[in-house]
Amino acid sequence: MQALAKYAALQQRSLFISAGHSDKDPGAAANGFTEAQVVLDFRDRLADYLRDKVYFTKDGERGQNMPLTVAANEAVAHDLAVEFHCNAFSSPAATGVETLSAAKHYPLGNEICKAVSAALGIANRGAKGESSGQHSRLAFIKRGKGIIVELFFLTNKSDLNSYIANIEACVEAVGSVLIEAVCMETEA
Ligand SMILES: [Zn+2]
Repeated sequence: MQALAKYAALQQRSLFISAGHSDKDPGAAANGFTEAQVVLDFRDRLADYLRDKVYFTKDGERGQNMPLTVAANEAVAHDLAVEFHCNAFSSPAATGVETLSAAKHYPLGNEICKAVSAALGIANRGAKGESSGQHSRLAFIKRGKGIIVELFFLTNKSDLNSYIANIEACVEAVGSVLIEAVCMETEA
């Protein structure tokens, strides 16, 4: 609770974290995993990391992943909303982390990319526009005004192995960037 007191006192902006997809919409499936499975686990680990540090809400209890429509409605009610996905491509060589968002979120998107790229040792594809993704998730960006993080390519075995080996480092890296972001009055 000491940590909560430290950061929460500095917190200027509200935070919402969301797991992409849902039980009914598993997203990409590759190398024995579904996107929904990976990002729900990531969101819950991130929540554990953030819990004693800042105030935030998420799209469901532990192990629960609300549908995108619910997440997008919730997202728009917060100053900062971030939804996690895995990327997928027909070529298994495609690699790296990227974010999708409106242009005003590019600086924060690039910070997140830098953090994930360093934690996983994968390429930094950078912050991109909302139509760059592999499938339609515009509701979270357009209606929810949020940022989508494509953590890594589920279709790339090497990306997946780096992720599995470095999950906690990745959680900490993303968590630190988000804590810093909500403690600033406006987005950097
Ligand atoms: Zn997705």
